[in-house]
Amino acid sequence: MDTSPDILVVGLGAMGAATLLFASGQGLRVLGIDRYEPPHHHGSTHGESRITRVGVGEGAEYVPLVQRSHRLWRDLETATCTSLYHACGGLILGCGDAAPMHGQHHFLDSTVAVAEAFGIRHEVLDADTIAARWPQFQLTGAERGYFEPEAGYLRPEACVAAQLAQARLRGAEIHNGECLLEWSKDSRGIAVRTDRTTYRPGLVVFCLGAWLPGVVPAPLLRVTRQVLHWFDTERPEDYAADRFPIFIWNWGLHEGQVYYGFPDLGGGIKLATEGHVETDPNHVDRSVGQGEIEAFYRLHVRGRMRGVLPNIRRTATCLYTEAPGARFWIDRLADDGPIVVSACSGHGFKHSAAIGEAVAQWAISGVRPSVLLPFAAPPGDTASR
Ligand SMILES: Cc1cc2nc3c(=O)[nH]c(=O)nc-3n(C[C@H](O)[C@H](O)[C@H](O)COP(=O)(O)OP(=O)(O)OC[C@H]3O[C@@H](n4cnc5c(N)ncnc54)[C@H](O)[C@@H]3O)c2cc1C
Repeated sequence: MDTSPDILVVGLGAMGAATLLFASGQGLRVLGIDRYEPPHHHGSTHGESRITRVGVGEGAEYVPLVQRSHRLWRDLETATCTSLYHACGGLILGCGDAAPMHGQHHFLDSTVAVAEAFGIRHEVLDADTIAARWPQFQLTGAERGYFEPEAGYLRPEACVAAQLAQARLRGAEIHNGECLLEWSKDSRGIAVRTDRTTYRPGLVVFCLGAWLPGVVPAPLLRVTRQVLHWFDTERPEDYAADRFPIFIWNWGLHEGQVYYGFPDLGGGIKLATEGHVETDPNHVDRSVGQGEIEAFYRLHVRGRMRGVLPNIRRTATCLYTEAPGARFWIDRLADDGPIVVSACSGHGFKHSAAIGEAVAQWAISGVRPSVLLPFAAPPGDTASR
């Protein structure tokens, strides 16, 4: 008997779990495989929390994805009785005119412009108002801010676990601990060889995160090591989610003079910046030295946040897969090839539910949903347009 599925999803992190969920329950044989046991801490989808915000300063083309995702997270919460999305509010802080982030030279201004264009509820605040509302921040007086009440954080591990559980309920098969070794295309279609068997799926979707460049030609994708820090605070209640928003703070005008953070969810306040050291997922240095922690605290935190102590509770390392301009790459390798989903660049999680839904629709219908059109292959890569 042929055990090959109609749709094979390889990689069940943020993008794969969502794709599997929306491909299942449609009368097709759907299989998802992952080399580990998701949710896990080897890829890009771990570390307790991810920022979500609707005024997406990275570009207007992302807004329909995050708006749809917010609906889908709420539906998933209802279906699974779990808590996934917390709208504690979000503050984007900038100083001066230009503060670069995620491919935008004026991240704060582009955030405000996107919010205005889409009628997203927000406030533009001066430094005095920010200081009065959130005395936790130590400002210079030159800052401006964008505050969005619908912004907040998602629980990435819980989102993936809930999506996979729901996908199973809808009839999807899931193989943990099964590793893709190679794939090929011939006159009979696509063959996917794993460490267990060879599949001849009707269609394959690669949601391989940082492992994607090892599987398809992707010369423009860079994999970088990221470090998350959880610090102690003098008064944890000052940083609780009912008093403190998620934030992104461009405290200087240059690349790298930015960090972001979350409320204290019970284990210290999580703070991080964006690292640029290239690595690969099988050899990344997972240890975080005391010197590295101290350098982060000295550069970004000291003198900027009241009552955040240099004592570290824990750290984690995670992987970005970055496309040029911090964009996503969601495309099909030729008309009859695999669909590839690379949606990270440090800001993909908030969109993952809607991306999975749209990719599943594409896999089932053969027609690329218009919401994905802006994310066709970056120039120089080999996918079709
Ligand atoms: C530190 C950090 C902070 C971030 N902050 C935010 C944020 O605040 N807001 C936001 O929106 N986004 C954020 N992001 C981005 C977001 O987390 C990513 O866009 C998202 O997690 C990417 O998911 P993925 O499915 O592409 O990758 P992954 O979740 O890593 O999934 C890839 C999967 O493929 C599997 N796999 C790999 N190779 C094979 C193989 N050969 N065979 C079988 N399975 C395989 C892996 O085991 C893995 O489960 C952040 C990312 C990081 C790293």
